[in-house]
Amino acid sequence: MWKSWSEIKLWKRIAGGLVLGVIVGAIFGESAGVIKPIGTLFINFIKMLIVPLVFLSLVVGVTSLKDPAKMGRIGLKAICWYLFTTAIAVTLGIIFAVVFQPGAGIDIVADAAVKTKAMPSVVGTLLNIIPKNPMAAFAQGNILQIIAFAIIVGIAINFVGAKADSVERMFEAGAEIMYKITHGVMELAPFGVFALMAWVAGKYGLSILLPLIKIIACVYVACILHALVTYGLVLKIYGGLKLAPFFKGIIDAQIVAFTSTSSSGTLPVTIRCAQENLGVSKSISSFVLPLGATVNMDGTAIYEAIAAIFIAQAFGVQLGGGDYFTIILVGTLASIGTAGVPGAGLIMLTLVLTQVGLPLEGIAIVAGIDRVLDMARTTINITGDSMINAVIAKSEGELNEEVYNAPPVA
Ligand code: ASP
Repeated sequence: MWKSWSEIKLWKRIAGGLVLGVIVGAIFGESAGVIKPIGTLFINFIKMLIVPLVFLSLVVGVTSLKDPAKMGRIGLKAICWYLFTTAIAVTLGIIFAVVFQPGAGIDIVADAAVKTKAMPSVVGTLLNIIPKNPMAAFAQGNILQIIAFAIIVGIAINFVGAKADSVERMFEAGAEIMYKITHGVMELAPFGVFALMAWVAGKYGLSILLPLIKIIACVYVACILHALVTYGLVLKIYGGLKLAPFFKGIIDAQIVAFTSTSSSGTLPVTIRCAQENLGVSKSISSFVLPLGATVNMDGTAIYEAIAAIFIAQAFGVQLGGGDYFTIILVGTLASIGTAGVPGAGLIMLTLVLTQVGLPLEGIAIVAGIDRVLDMARTTINITGDSMINAVIAKSEGELNEEVYNAPPVA
């Protein structure tokens, strides 16, 4: 039985779990939540991998690059692409919200106590990237600080040369061990996804979704359009790559993102899909993907724009040209500052609302369905990371196109 089960492609097993989960949730309603712990167990397993995997694979990524100029070039390319696609995402969100008016005709009686998020200072954020105590960064799972520390350690290993060979090999072995564990954990994915979907579908039945169906539709359609058109064009024009193999190759990661609503949590799966299905070299993917999972959030940017304008419409607040400009600017910054964890985008929404001068009570309306919106935005977040990872690898000659075009192996 195990044999025939494992012969089914993993993504099919995971997709099956997703569909079955929705059915079970629809039938049993809130009581389907009893199986949620299976999903939580799966998520805990992947979370367990994040810190050691990011650190080890990034050190190995840097030591395998050796050439510091190449590393700087890849980092710069990644950041430029992140900013470019995020700016398009936020603009797309604005267009959707203005054209489809998801907030028109909504009656608001809300009086929620909402915690606001203060605008972070740019200098403070930059200084904070260097961990004062790397062990604390590990313990708190501060990915940006771990990235910084890993890059520094990797560069130092390169400079030390032969004397550090044994340490370099140790890190390589460590990274391999983490990849192996990821493989094992992914066998749990179909069950974890099943349980999480049953819980979500049971909790958010149609009755709670219907009044807000317009904003849900706006976020989902804008996300899909961004993935197909923006990413499709970049893949084709800049990367010279076909679209279908890309989406087939990352489907495991997309389903895990959709159900876990955490880009950071999905990272081990995203890295695995990039290396095994898309043929991206380890040195590029272990560098570009952790960075992307932390700062590149196009789905969140789309959501920030749509939700802010939705709230303005619901409260009857007229927005002017300057307000839209503020939404583009703050929405982009907010998405960069959003942590790759469930619900983080909702907290950052307070930042956008404050800057535009919109009522914070609006958060209360979207909060009820945030999970459903988070599923779409997290999926796009990791899709964007994977796309940029693939085109950068292609431009650096680090993409194995035979693997990219072949059917997914994982
Ligand atoms: N959950 C999203 C992510 O992990 C962040 C967000 O809430 O927008 O990518």
